[in-house]
Amino acid sequence: MTEHNFATGRCLCGAVRYRINAEPIRMAACHCKHCQRSSGTGHMSLAFFREDDVSIEGETSSYGAEADSGNVNTRHFCPTCGSRVFSTNSARPGVVGIAVGCADDNSWFAANAVVYAKRRETWDHTPEDVPNFEEMPPPAK
Ligand SMILES: [Zn+2]
Ligand SMILES: [Zn+2]
Repeated sequence: MTEHNFATGRCLCGAVRYRINAEPIRMAACHCKHCQRSSGTGHMSLAFFREDDVSIEGETSSYGAEADSGNVNTRHFCPTCGSRVFSTNSARPGVVGIAVGCADDNSWFAANAVVYAKRRETWDHTPEDVPNFEEMPPPAK
């Protein structure tokens, strides 16, 4: 198998690390209240990868929360430093959402959608020249 090293990342303390071997399926900025609370700021910048393309080392703690859609989004974070590292969603099995802030180099990130745009605050800027959805659109096929 040829390994294409797309990105590496780690939490603040370094106990949790990841390596990604392929390009993202999708990139999004999410302004939902859960992302605001769990990140402590206005939105999460998330890149979605096939689970098979991501390897994660180190123990994480996780917290599952039911979204408006009824799907459960489980956010994984480092139990030591609290960094939000990745998430999984019951609506999208086999897909991992990487919190791009933990990537060593995240200059490749460019959201191709904004979700929960209705929650975007005037002080928090995400692109308006890509599709902006008021809430979560149905899962991509
Ligand atoms: Zn950590
Ligand atoms: Zn969200």
